[in-house]
Amino acid sequence: MSKDWMMRLRWDRIGVVVLVLCGMSSGLRAWVIADEASDIDGQFNGSEGLSLLSGAALDAADVRFAPTLTSTARLTDKGAAVLSDKADEPETEVLHVVAPVVEEPSGPLPRKNVKPCTCSKSTMKKLAHNPYTQHRKRARNLPGSFFVKNNADVQSRVQRGKIVEVTNSRGYHLGSLNHSKPYLLKDAKFVLDEIGRRFADAMEGTAEEGASIRVTSLTRTEWQHNKLKRRNRNATRGQSTHCFGASFDIFAVDRLNNTMKCGGPTWALQEILYDMQKKGEILVVPEGNCMHITPN
Ligand SMILES: [Zn+2]
Repeated sequence: MSKDWMMRLRWDRIGVVVLVLCGMSSGLRAWVIADEASDIDGQFNGSEGLSLLSGAALDAADVRFAPTLTSTARLTDKGAAVLSDKADEPETEVLHVVAPVVEEPSGPLPRKNVKPCTCSKSTMKKLAHNPYTQHRKRARNLPGSFFVKNNADVQSRVQRGKIVEVTNSRGYHLGSLNHSKPYLLKDAKFVLDEIGRRFADAMEGTAEEGASIRVTSLTRTEWQHNKLKRRNRNATRGQSTHCFGASFDIFAVDRLNNTMKCGGPTWALQEILYDMQKKGEILVVPEGNCMHITPN
């Protein structure tokens, strides 16, 4: 062999060695990068399970475990999210689960499902019957008295201060005024206030405190009275004392609730009316469904 051929052979061997070394170097680099990438994923997911997938272990892992581990990671993430949500929840949603409180009914009387204590000739037998003619005579003679024919009469008398407005007051309240208007002559209003005040005083400190007298008929125009006559046989045929603004009807006593008894309030109201009637302060017509009162 020539010297030139020997030199070429050596360079070939050197080239082969260099190629082998380059190949080994590339393989080593690829393995290191893969391992680093796996570590980054593991850190990103924050899952201990995923770190098992790094490097050679990834190849060795049974494929059936891959979704399981991934699910575990998701569950772990979801669990963390749930915990985070719970941490953000206001405490009131968890702690303020309380039993419903049964509250006392409130608002104006009468109250739903609480029956009134009736005031009539059958529940207040102690009261005498003052003839209606006596009521009518007194009604015509009271200060400011005037027969009210219509709404215009009512308005003119209000403007002149002959009749005064009646609103809910201590011891009494207004019922539905379907056939009258909330006005009375001053003397009649004075008597009503006095009855209410004495009744409230009588109830004070008792189990029936808060019970209130329901007043249903006050000043009635002639038109309203004629309309009522067609419906109600008990309405007087002649001039009603309500048309003078002189009388009012006590229909019932309303209670705050059903635990209150009717006996005490009814008895107290009867005693008050009886006392005032006996002293000559009021005239009474005990009717089948109310007490008709006129100042005397
Ligand atoms: Zn009446």
